[in-house]
Amino acid sequence: MSDRCNFPQLLALNGLRPTPVRLAVLEILGLADRALRAGEILESLRIRRRVNKVTVYRILDDFTARGILRRINLDDRAAHYELACEHHPPHPHFQCLSCREVQCLDPVPLSRMWAEIQGPLGNRADRIDIRVAGHCHKCREQE
Ligand SMILES: [Zn+2]
Ligand SMILES: [Zn+2]
Ligand SMILES: [Zn+2]
Repeated sequence: MSDRCNFPQLLALNGLRPTPVRLAVLEILGLADRALRAGEILESLRIRRRVNKVTVYRILDDFTARGILRRINLDDRAAHYELACEHHPPHPHFQCLSCREVQCLDPVPLSRMWAEIQGPLGNRADRIDIRVAGHCHKCREQE
């Protein structure tokens, strides 16, 4: 999925220098199969290098404003982040009410629905948020 992403090129397209921390943030999100909290991204970064928390949060805000990342606001206070490049089109999410993990679901059904839910002619839908809440398979196994 993310192996088609070219992160140095993605940064260059957005007029950003490919600093080690910016690249590491994108790599961590590229390897994840689910959306990550800022705190989780920070933890993964700290395994690799010394980073300043403020720097990382600023990068996440900047990437989100530029459309490099998608910020997913769920019931949780903590926002989740994921890549928003062409390889990662909008898709529904499943959030587990026990462990709060956010799974990414298949984007295919959304593209079919897209045309249907724009509303009156002339509207342009820029984003759709579909969230399914429940209990994930891992938590259900422990029940
Ligand atoms: Zn990509
Ligand atoms: Zn769970
Ligand atoms: Zn997702």
